Formats: sequence, C-alpha cells, structure tokens
Amino acid sequence: MTSTIAKIYIENLRHNLKLIKGRISPGAKMCVAIKADAYGHGALRCAREAVLCGADFLAVARVREGVELREGGITIPLLMLSLCNPEEADELVLNEITPLVFDFDYIKMIEDAARKAGKKKYSVHLAVDTGMGRIGCLPEECVRFAKYIDESEFLSLGGVCTHFSVADSKKETDREYTEKQFERFVFATESIRKAGINPGIRHCANSAITLDKPEMHLDMCRPGIIVYGYYPDELDRDYFSSKGEQIDLKPVMALTTRVVSIRDFEPGKSVSYGRTWTSEKKTKIAVLPIGYADGFFRRFSKSCGFCEGIDVAINGRPYPIRGRICMDQCMVELGETSGVERWSEAVIFGPKESGAVQTAQKLADETGTIPYEITCGVGKRVPRVFVE
Ligand SMILES: *Cc1c(COP(=O)(O)O)cnc(C)c1O
Repeated sequence: MTSTIAKIYIENLRHNLKLIKGRISPGAKMCVAIKADAYGHGALRCAREAVLCGADFLAVARVREGVELREGGITIPLLMLSLCNPEEADELVLNEITPLVFDFDYIKMIEDAARKAGKKKYSVHLAVDTGMGRIGCLPEECVRFAKYIDESEFLSLGGVCTHFSVADSKKETDREYTEKQFERFVFATESIRKAGINPGIRHCANSAITLDKPEMHLDMCRPGIIVYGYYPDELDRDYFSSKGEQIDLKPVMALTTRVVSIRDFEPGKSVSYGRTWTSEKKTKIAVLPIGYADGFFRRFSKSCGFCEGIDVAINGRPYPIRGRICMDQCMVELGETSGVERWSEAVIFGPKESGAVQTAQKLADETGTIPYEITCGVGKRVPRVFVE
C-alpha cells in the first residue's frame, strides 16, 4: 500500500446513517447523497452501507455515477440531481436512473429515450425552483409540466422536489427565506394535487433541514454532508446543544500519509518552491509524500498567504508545514528533538481515533471553504482504505 491514503471509518459512517435514519420523520424516506464519489469517500462502499442502514434512494449527480452503482449491484432507486446531455439519455434510462426534469425540451428528451428503450411510465421527478436559482421550473408553471408527464405514455411523475439555498444559516433573514421557499414548494405540490395529479414523493430536505426542521421532511429527506460526519455549516454541534439536542456526528474520512525522509537543516537553508521559508536555527525537516494532486492544497501552507497554515499530526502532536506544498510532496518542521521516525504515520485530518489533531472542518474554516470541498478534493490517486 502506498503511503498516502484516505481511511474510511465504516463504523462512523454507520453511526451517522443510523442517527440520521432515527431523525427522519416517520413515513418519510431516506435518500442518501452518494454523488461525487460519496463526497470523496468511495461511492460503492458507502452506497452499500447506506442501503444496509435503510436508504430508500441514493442520489447521484452524473449518469456515470449511477452506472457505477448499478454495475456494483445497487438495485434501489437512484435519483440524479443534475442534468445530463442528449448523448447520455439512453444510458440514464437503461440504468433506471431517475432524472430531475423541469422544461419541455428536456422532458421530451427523456421521454424519447424511454420510448426507445421500450419503457412505459418511466419515473421522473419534477424540480421546482423556489429560490435556489439553479434548476427547476417556477412554482406557477409546475402544473403544465406535471400534466404533460402524467399524460405521457412513457413517463410518470414519481416525485416533486426543490432545494434550499440558505437552510444551513442561523441568520433570521435566511431562516425567513427558507420558510418562503418551503411555502412556495407546498403551493407547487398542492396545485399539482388540485389539478388531479398525484405529485408522488415530495422532497426538499437537505442535511440542515433533515436535522433541524422535521416539519419540512414531507415524503423524503436527502441528507449529504451529515452522512460523512460534518455539520451543516452554521448548524453545528453547539447550535443543536443550545436547542437541547445532542447530535453527535462522527467524521468518516482520515487523510493520512507517512514520513518518508527526515533531514537535518542548518540555519539559513530554504525549503520548497519560491523559497518562502528559511530555517533560523538547527532543526529537522520531514518530507511527506502528499501534495496538491492528492487534495492537500497549496493554500493550506502559510507560505501561500491564504491562511495561518494548518498543522500535520505525527504521534498525536501538531507540526507546521514549511514552505509551499508541492504537487506530490510537502515538508514539515519537526524541531531538533521530536522523536518522530522515518515511516511514522502523519495525519492531515480525520476523526479522533485516526490520531488527527483536526477534522476537515478546521481545514475548511482556515481557508474559507466548506468540508464538502475538502473531502471531494481528495485526489483520484489516493486509495480509499475501508476500516471496519
Ligand atoms: C447535494 C445535494 C443534497 C445534499 O446536500 P447536503 O448539504 O450535503 O445535505 C441535497 N439535495 C440536492 C439537490 C443536492 O444537490
């Protein structure tokens, strides 16, 4: 096994899935977001655990992602949250992936693919834009589309959905915006019902709503980030504690590597590209075979000027990165007497049991992003190692 790996703690994944399942309102289904290789955690393995923990649906973002799950033996319904192109439509239908639709052009493209594949009443979900401004028809338009789908020989309306843009914010104005979006969504589903059409599964709840607003669960929740152990932005552990609820999510991924070399530095010796750091005293520098091609981005080093610099844990102690992070390697300063040895494990982020001194949340906070981007950014060449 190579030195730089992403350890996936299956027990933590199960813990989160069970916790989520327990919070979803009775009667509502669970659709687990497996898109983007399960937020970087390994799609197929995470999908299997989700199914074992009671997922009714899995959500993907690409036809290819759905096909990977089908080829891996996943048989439960798959929902595709973003759009495919005409060349992909046949593959979508052949793999029984349920698309989101919201305009005639696209609906007819799917209808055509369903007809060609000999499918009758192929399930699609109608997306409604209630304020996210990304995909979806306007609430006032939804009856026209619902009617067309319902009357088609080749399509059926399996569900209606929307997506919130500020559900993970604590700000009063944002909370009002979410309420407004929900009202618009209810208006949309009710107008479909009033037109004599069954809206099917009504769903709008992302992670934030799944944990915070049971009254908005409707027929299905679509949790993502909480499955992987991170809180929905501002709705963090403390937020729920202050509401008198203890929600204990456990990060699932640890990004680890090993010390491949330890070198003695005399004062005045510079490190890495750009010579942004120079030793002031005698010290030891460890070389780690991890770099931005692995998802350990340049901006994590103080030398790049975006943050105060994040530390790397070795034997449970933090050590600072020195100089710029390269494509495949980086350097950390051990000082003169660290006791760190060659081949020691170094942990970038992860749950406590991984020996990490921080989670991906810390890396995200330091560099102005969100944990989603950190775990999704772990490179393709980093093996995902599943820890039972
Ligand atoms: C990614 C996504 C989700 C899950 O979002 P989280 O914030 O990770 O819970 C739910 N719905 C849609 C439409 C999405 O794109």
